[in-house]
Amino acid sequence: MFIRKDLCDICGSCVSVCPVDAITIEEFNAEIDQNVCTECGNCLIICPAKAIEHKS
Ligand code: SF4
Ligand code: SF4
Repeated sequence: MFIRKDLCDICGSCVSVCPVDAITIEEFNAEIDQNVCTECGNCLIICPAKAIEHKS
């Protein structure tokens, strides 16, 4: 899963729903650690800005 930096408003909602703590809040956007993410989809569903997408 990856985060569209142009859409993320750093609300933090995705961080709390990630079961493996793969998401961190950076200065200008949230970031997903690709080595930790299990593609569970929780963050994709919760993001109000629709900033999270599957890797193509
Ligand atoms: S898809 Fe699941 S594991 Fe990956 S970052 Fe989102 S909530 Fe975390
Ligand atoms: S839920 Fe969406 S808008 Fe909020 S911090 Fe996560 S990626 Fe950004």
